[in-house]
Amino acid sequence: MKIVKTAYEVRNIVNEWRKKGLSVGFVPTMGYLHEGHQSLIEKAVKENDRVVVSVFVNPMQFGENEDFDSYPRDIDRDSEICEKAGCSVIFNPDISEMYGEYFSSFVNMNTLPQRLCGKSRPIHFKGVCTVVTKLFNIVCPDRAYFGQKDAQQLAIIKRMVSDLNFNINIIGCPIVREEDGLAKSSRNTYLNAEERKAAVVLSRSLKIGKSLMENGEKSAEKIISAVKEEINKEKLAKIDYIEIVDMNRLQPVNEINCQVLVAIAVYIGKTRLIDNFIM
Ligand code: AMP
Repeated sequence: MKIVKTAYEVRNIVNEWRKKGLSVGFVPTMGYLHEGHQSLIEKAVKENDRVVVSVFVNPMQFGENEDFDSYPRDIDRDSEICEKAGCSVIFNPDISEMYGEYFSSFVNMNTLPQRLCGKSRPIHFKGVCTVVTKLFNIVCPDRAYFGQKDAQQLAIIKRMVSDLNFNINIIGCPIVREEDGLAKSSRNTYLNAEERKAAVVLSRSLKIGKSLMENGEKSAEKIISAVKEEINKEKLAKIDYIEIVDMNRLQPVNEINCQVLVAIAVYIGKTRLIDNFIM
């Protein structure tokens, strides 16, 4: 497995693969990899001849008061995980490689980025769309793998790829969880022992919502209030949002009569965590 720092090197390697008729899978990440990322890489390895993983903490998708500086980084550990999972190349660019001095082009989208997480992270998805577009143009994969953990991101990338005619198959992958139900996340490392225990309230409250729906509850308001009640029992938790939205437009629904995304964002202490399920 190779670790490369420049777009030029990635392009050369992928061109050589293409000449041999090999298919290419791609997994974009911000590093500090865990079993969630690993599941994406392993799926990509199964479905493609070669796999590129990018490890880049993208400053453009962090707001001014967010955790860009403190975001955990460990490229040595990431390399070990990637190598074991069967990745062929890690693309680990510096910021200057991705954003030159005169950088001024952005990819943005109406509507979807303003919903859910976009309300408290207004510039986030512009940064995501821009960096993913750049990465797609650098790697030119056949397939790219994204986790349902970031369900809004997955919906936005699928829309962008369809709207802008990228010739790339976007593959969504299920959420990987800790034994107690907490969705794996690089940001879980911010939690102290007490917060870590409290964080289980995200998946626990969603389970309550899910079982209500499974038992035929159709009122979004009733499901939301049951989820809310459970989260409010946890002293360290502060709700950012609880929403039930349709899968295509991410518009809130009143009655559940189509495929919906039930998504929550909750602060546990200072750490903002997200979780969801689709039904
Ligand atoms: P990140 O490094 O947080 O930007 O995540 C990179 C990719 O891994 C994204 O497509 C995420 O949705 C996905 N991912 C992160 N955590 C998980 C998880 N617990 N289960 C499945 N996929 C995940």
